[in-house]
Amino acid sequence: MSQVFGLNSVDIPSKETFSQIYGTIKEVPGLNFFEKIWASYYVYMDNDIFATGLLFFLLHEVMYFGRCLPWYIIDRTPYFKKYKIQPNVYPSDKEQWECTKSVLKSHFFVEAFPIWFFHPICEKIGVSYDVPFPSLSKIAIQVTIFFFLEDAWHYWFHRGIHYGAFYRYIHKQHHRYAAPFGLAAEYAHPIEVMLLGFGTVGIPIVWCYFTRDLHLFTICIWITLRLFQAIDAHSGYEFPISLHHFLFIWAGADHHDEHHHHFIGNYASSFRLWDYILDTEAGETAKNTRENKNKSKAEKVATKN
Ligand SMILES: [Zn+2]
Ligand SMILES: [Zn+2]
Repeated sequence: MSQVFGLNSVDIPSKETFSQIYGTIKEVPGLNFFEKIWASYYVYMDNDIFATGLLFFLLHEVMYFGRCLPWYIIDRTPYFKKYKIQPNVYPSDKEQWECTKSVLKSHFFVEAFPIWFFHPICEKIGVSYDVPFPSLSKIAIQVTIFFFLEDAWHYWFHRGIHYGAFYRYIHKQHHRYAAPFGLAAEYAHPIEVMLLGFGTVGIPIVWCYFTRDLHLFTICIWITLRLFQAIDAHSGYEFPISLHHFLFIWAGADHHDEHHHHFIGNYASSFRLWDYILDTEAGETAKNTRENKNKSKAEKVATKN
């Protein structure tokens, strides 16, 4: 008999099938459906390191390719042509396939090794993975904080890898597509995957190191939303209902497409704040505003003299 983690009152016989384990855990009062599935999964796997590693690997694959699929269909549907940011520039099937192969290679060869260290690190710094989950409001607050922290990390390091040799040897790969598409979100050099990926995976770990208050389920929600943000930003489509029309600081596809189109400016990932404040916005409008600003500054100086 083995005891279910975090559920002191329940004993589970060993060598049970998943549905038998779920059948026992189902009876525990006060747990919702997702908490019961989560607890049953960890009990069934009977190896927390393997369970967490597999969970995050599958979460990444399912959410990444699952989110890319609708964009692939939209690209092949003439109705959506009017919403394309760079009209008439479509990735060919061959390009999409090449990109998919490269992303999969990176998932299997770059990510598959460190992912097994994820659970031991989480345990060491006190990321909890028992049930029940934290409240929805706590999850929402922490995920929002991670969005802002990741955005700052991404802005500076992305801006950094646009310089000289860093661009030539690392970031150039990601800029192969001047008109991006969903699958291209993670098309990048392994060093870039590690560096910018730290903003997504490392920030929650550092956060928990200082606060000692984070649940693994919150990290799952955060990684899923961050993946959606990155894929949507590369989608190449701008709709009247796109989020940035309602949440003005949200970057969206419009923002990142300009980055790929002009190869310069708009370095942040989720928000428009850093590029606005530090005057690194990309595109014609931003360029004109910058030029007008510099002109009026020069005129002011000239009249003073
Ligand atoms: Zn770039
Ligand atoms: Zn990009």
